[in-house]
This record gives sequence, C-alpha cells and structure tokens, in this order.
Amino acid sequence: MAKLTVQDLDVRGKRVFLRVDYNVPMEEKEGKMVINDVTRIVETLPTLKLLIEKGGKLILTAHLGRPKGKREPSMSLAPVAVKLGELLGKPVAFATDCIGEVAEAAVAALQDGEVLLLENVRYYNEEEANDPAFAEKLAKVADVYVNDAFGAAHRAHASTAGVAAIVAARGGKCAAGLLMDRELKFLGDELENPARPFVVILGGAKVSDKIKVIDRLLEKADTILIGGAMAYTFKLANGVKTGKSLVEPDQTATALSAEAKAKKLGVNFQLPTDTIIATPVDTGKLNKKGKPVYDLVNVRTISGDIPDDAEGFSIGEETAKHYAQIISSAKTVLWNGPMGMFEDPRFAGGTNAVALAVVEATQNNGAVSIIGGGDSVKAINKAKLGDKVTFMSTGGGASLEFLEGTELPGVAALSDK
Ligand code: ADP
Ligand code: MG
Repeated sequence: MAKLTVQDLDVRGKRVFLRVDYNVPMEEKEGKMVINDVTRIVETLPTLKLLIEKGGKLILTAHLGRPKGKREPSMSLAPVAVKLGELLGKPVAFATDCIGEVAEAAVAALQDGEVLLLENVRYYNEEEANDPAFAEKLAKVADVYVNDAFGAAHRAHASTAGVAAIVAARGGKCAAGLLMDRELKFLGDELENPARPFVVILGGAKVSDKIKVIDRLLEKADTILIGGAMAYTFKLANGVKTGKSLVEPDQTATALSAEAKAKKLGVNFQLPTDTIIATPVDTGKLNKKGKPVYDLVNVRTISGDIPDDAEGFSIGEETAKHYAQIISSAKTVLWNGPMGMFEDPRFAGGTNAVALAVVEATQNNGAVSIIGGGDSVKAINKAKLGDKVTFMSTGGGASLEFLEGTELPGVAALSDK
C-alpha cells in the first residue's frame, strides 16, 4: 500500500523528527574535519524546504561513520550542521547530544520553521540495537516522524524503526520524505507494472549477492542481461573454463536453476559471448590490507574457455554491442551491478557502453531507466551520465533488499495513506 508522504502532512507548530542520511565522506584537513562531497546533504533540501514552508519545527537525526557507541570527535555531525546552514540559506542549530537535556533544551528553543540537527545517533550502541528505552528518549521530542534516509531503511534501528513505532502508537503520523518517496516510486511502483520491453541488466561481483534479485526479476522482466564477475559463475555452471576469474563454485546449481526458470517463463536470458581477460603477475608487494598486489598483464579479448593462468575482468566488445542493441529498444531498464572491474580503465569499456545505451534508450526511446546499487551508481557517475538517466537510487544495500522484494523495516514503519 502507498505510504504517507510529507506532502500529506500538516506539521504547523509540530515537532517533526526527521531521519536523514548525512553519512557524508569526510577528511581531516589542518586539524579540522572537512566534508568531501555534499551530495547527500543537497538531496535532502527539497524535503527540508517543504517542511519549513509548512511551519514545522525540524529535528534532524543522522549517523556518521561507525563510532561504535563512543563519542568519536572525528565523526561529529557539527560540520554538517554548518554546511547544511550554508546550503539552506538559514541557520541550523546543533545539539551536542541526540537525547537527554541537551537535545530537549535545543528542541524547546525551536520556533516554527526552524531547523535543528542532533549529534551522531550512533554515539549510542542502543541506536543499532533498536533499544526500546533509547527509542523512547529520542521520541520524547517527536510529534511527527519523517524518514528520508532510504539508505538506512533496511535496518531496524531506533531512529529508523523504533521512534516511528512509538510516534504511531501515540496516534502521530509517520511519513516518507520526498527522497524516500521517489525511491519507493521507482524501485517499487514503476517495476510493479513496467512499460515493456522491460530489460534488466545485472552484473557485479557475486551471484550469491544477487540471486534473490535475479529470481524475483525473472518473474517481471522480458530480458535479463548478465555481466560482471557474476557471469563467470554462470559460465562455469555451463562447463566453460574460467581460469582464475572470481567465481563461486558453490553457486553453480543456483545459476543453472535461474537459467531453467528463465526458459520456463520465456525470459530472454543472455550471458556474455566474449570477455576481456588478463594474466595476473605477483609483484611480491603487499597492499595496505596485507594482501598480495598483482600486475595485470597481457590484456586481451577472448571467447570460450579462459586459460588457467588468466582472469576475466569485463564483458567484451561484441557482448557490449549486443547488449546495447537490446537495451536501445527497451521501455523500462533496471541496472544493478557493473559489467566489469570498471575502476580500472582497461576494463571499463563494457560498463561504459552499457551506460551509454541506457542513456540513449532513455532519451531516444522514452524509456524509464533506473539504476540501483552503490557501485553501479559510481560507474554511471564516473562516465558523467548520472543526470541522463531517469532515476539513480541512493540506497546501496537497501536498494538491493528492496528489489529482492523484502519489506524494509524503515518503510514498514511508515503510515499507510
Ligand atoms: P553494486 O554495488 O552496483 O550492487 P556490486 O557490489 O555487486 O555492484 O559489484 C561491483 C564490484 O564488482 C565492482 O567493484 C567491480 O570492480 C566488481 N567486478 C565486476 N566485474 C568484475 C570482474 N570481472 N572481476 C572482478 N571484479 C569485478
Ligand atoms: Mg557494491
């Protein structure tokens, strides 16, 4: 059922407890923590502006990093409050604690339309434990609950689930922010009854990470295109040699049953016909994590068996062209997982070609294009195509779980319309 959104809320004079995702990358510069990328803050501005306009008293809660229940100064949200104030063009108050007297006093000082950011909620272990007493403390300042942190919605934490349950039990409303609402629309409603042909592109590292998504999407998609390291497990299952490629031998039965299901349902299920391989050569050096560093030499494209001493790193050009052609006639495209190890330019070509095809389908064929998954979004942004697709999910792990059809605790906690 559709969830209540901030647009449906009357918040004038009310204390709005707003969970946001301000887990921004930070770096220490000259003894100060500096924000490297403000995207996540910028993305929340429409929700904030709407609630300010509606006359709510905004109490923002977020986490930063993994302070593991300690007051870790480098993970303070204080710099975020300053940056948010600049971006919003109005002062943002900051409370040095997310619960207790400090937080309550700061909330009491709020006028209608004013904004307060509470300190890192993960300074308390009780947050991730969804401790009921801690949730009560947070909820003490909440009349209305709003969640705009889709990326944290797959975890039942105090600020994503506990507080909402308490507000709801008191008869208060719990709503999705604008960002959360868009995620639910595109990853949910759009894929429920997609315009056809519906083409799904799945890649990334592991079959085991994606099998639930594959299984669910087999029931909806017209075509599934497989790439990335995941493809090699499918190849292995079909008796092709995969050399040193990243494969999961324990997933070959799963891979075969996915192929069988595709056949049964009449889904066009495609595996790569060529692949880019290289030979790893041990340099004798170790990386920061103590793992051996390999040089990748003799980069070449092959079809068929991968030699014993070689490793596959991307779909080949022939596959990329074939996939691009299929994508170009799609009306709905969902992409999760890069087609290769795109972080290395020698293996980025296939991912970039697919990205371009998705953009072309969007712009020339009127397709709705949806990108889910942390690394897929990185790949699209790296190719500078982020603004040319219909929707890029901010959810990472949460997107994947949502696509699997799992009910996310942070979504379940919201009131129905
Ligand atoms: P997403 O975050 O979009 O869901 P994944 O996390 O499943 O995607 O996979 C992305 C990672 O998979 C990338 O870091 C990429 O380098 C890696 N990858 C893709 N193809 C290969 C390959 N052939 N060999 C090794 N790593 C690969
Ligand atoms: Mg990933």
